[in-house]
Amino acid sequence: MQVIRDPQKLILALKKSKAGKNKTIGFVPTMGAMHTGHLNLIKQAAKDNHIVAVSIFVNPQQFGPGEDLKFYPRPLKKDIQLCRKQGVDFIFLPDNKIMYPDGYSTFINVGRLSHLLCGAKRPGHFRGVATVVAKLLNIVKPDNLYLGQKDAQQAIIISRMIKDLNFPVKVNVLPIVRFKDGLALSSRNTYLNKNERTSAVVLFKALRLAEILVSNGQRNANRIISRMSQLIEKNKKAKIDYIAIVNQEQLKEMKKVKTGSLIALAVKIGKTRLIDNTIIGCI
Ligand code: AMP
Repeated sequence: MQVIRDPQKLILALKKSKAGKNKTIGFVPTMGAMHTGHLNLIKQAAKDNHIVAVSIFVNPQQFGPGEDLKFYPRPLKKDIQLCRKQGVDFIFLPDNKIMYPDGYSTFINVGRLSHLLCGAKRPGHFRGVATVVAKLLNIVKPDNLYLGQKDAQQAIIISRMIKDLNFPVKVNVLPIVRFKDGLALSSRNTYLNKNERTSAVVLFKALRLAEILVSNGQRNANRIISRMSQLIEKNKKAKIDYIAIVNQEQLKEMKKVKTGSLIALAVKIGKTRLIDNTIIGCI
């Protein structure tokens, strides 16, 4: 496994390892602090491809003022060990200066998709995400990109950008990995104290409630959202940021739940903002 910090070096190393052979590259972009959610993406990339590249970069462009850029966990040694164990071939580990040198001026805006849901609460976040992913795709030139359903809006926005800008890469979105009690794995879970960790299950419980309501025949989105809100509001540590029922293509709010509707929410547990979602199966 090679750990490479310089984009040009990575471009050359990947070119060399692909040289002349019909080898495919699977790529998993991350911000590190790896957990089973990340490792699952890496495992799939290893299954599907000859070469696996992982990036670890806490991208400052996707953090707003007052967000957790400074405190974001960076257990680099452990991350590198985990990647080695999974058979990763290349870790790309750039720093801010090499990604955004003086004079850097180019950003990618994926239209209105970026201003809804999490984008409404985190202005500029998805501009930062799209920009860094576009840069990473240009450096790694993967055949397959692996993303988690955990960040549903992110996966939708990146897929849109890839389509719109003709990036020659296939997007693979893998299911959400959860703890036994339902909480979705997230690097930000490390911010939670013991009581908050217990409270954090409320996101999953609200999504389960929505699924049960739908399977019992409820289709009215407002009613479902209102029941989810009631459940969450019972928990004193939880503060709803948003709950939305939207279609996956345009993130358009739906009055009636349908097969394939995305139910997404963001909830603050204490100071920690957590997100989760579910997609309604065949109804
Ligand atoms: P991050 O390091 O938070 O930027 O995440 C890197 C990738 O891992 C993204 O594509 C996430 O959607 C994915 N991911 C994070 N948590 C999970 C999870 N619990 N289940 C599945 N994928 C996840």
